[in-house]
Amino acid sequence: MVLQFQPEGIYCPAGDFYIDPWRPVPRALITHGHSDHARWGHGSYLATKAAAPVMRLRLGDISLDTVNYGETRQIGKARVSFHPAGHVPGSAQIRVEVDGEIWVASGDYKTTDDGFSEPFEPVPCHAFITESTFGLPVFKWDAQDDVITQINAWWAANKAAGRFSILGAYALGKAQRILANVDTSIGPTLTHGAIENTNAVLRAQGLSLPDTIRVTPDTDIKANAGALVLATPSGMNSTWVRRFGQASTAFASGWMSMRGHRRRRSADRGFVMSDHADWDGLNAAIKATGAERVFVTHGYTSQFARWLNEQGYDAGVVETEYEGESLDAADAEVVE
Ligand SMILES: [Zn+2]
Ligand SMILES: [Zn+2]
Repeated sequence: MVLQFQPEGIYCPAGDFYIDPWRPVPRALITHGHSDHARWGHGSYLATKAAAPVMRLRLGDISLDTVNYGETRQIGKARVSFHPAGHVPGSAQIRVEVDGEIWVASGDYKTTDDGFSEPFEPVPCHAFITESTFGLPVFKWDAQDDVITQINAWWAANKAAGRFSILGAYALGKAQRILANVDTSIGPTLTHGAIENTNAVLRAQGLSLPDTIRVTPDTDIKANAGALVLATPSGMNSTWVRRFGQASTAFASGWMSMRGHRRRRSADRGFVMSDHADWDGLNAAIKATGAERVFVTHGYTSQFARWLNEQGYDAGVVETEYEGESLDAADAEVVE
């Protein structure tokens, strides 16, 4: 086995390293900066150059080495390279080759180009490790342009009615994806501090985002009437939103396709937008690898693995501590 599933994480014996380990290990290769993949406490880290600034923001002073997408590193007897996963800026699938056998650990991914993250690239391999956050046929995403049009219309209508438009989105990924694509001529955009910290790091590494205004205790809220307010999911459930007074609230998440979730979030609107692949995206991604073996790590694992076996793959579920698209207030700020 090029990669093995150990209690600490996904392990490569030929290179003596782990991929996205959930327990402290000496050497960790990290697919992306979300907190269920990039954890604190490893001896050394290796990630893409594009993922590194956010990892430093979140993990502080870590021993972090970086590679470009597509660049090959020899680690022990393993040849390693990182390839775009399309999930969030800097996110990667990690390709590991040992004696001609190729495995790919994909972390989290989505196959649609969001206009901001590096687009997903299929990597041919013998064995593919996949998530299945939305691994049921009911999950089918609308085109991003359509969802952005809905968000623009919601924002413009609220502005006309003198209301703020408060949109809950993850601090890394979703918030910037929305910001990069909405029609900012409608009005100003205000941001929660956790989102603005991430924006600042991404701008500093050269990514282009429209101007935003960080909400602080001193912010003149009235002067920005009708603004789009990008909030973290936990900010949505706190006193943070109350100062905006008249406002419409919404969430952007793949879970918004399920009526029950929308109701429980007590938001006025739900926009179906995920940084994870939908059913068709998962199937297309797996097919494009040409892999015969598939390991399913998180999400609707047993259902999705059973489906893959019916399609002729040698598929199985592996236990990991990765999480899908969480809507829980406690962790949604940092986990996706
Ligand atoms: Zn993620
Ligand atoms: Zn994840």
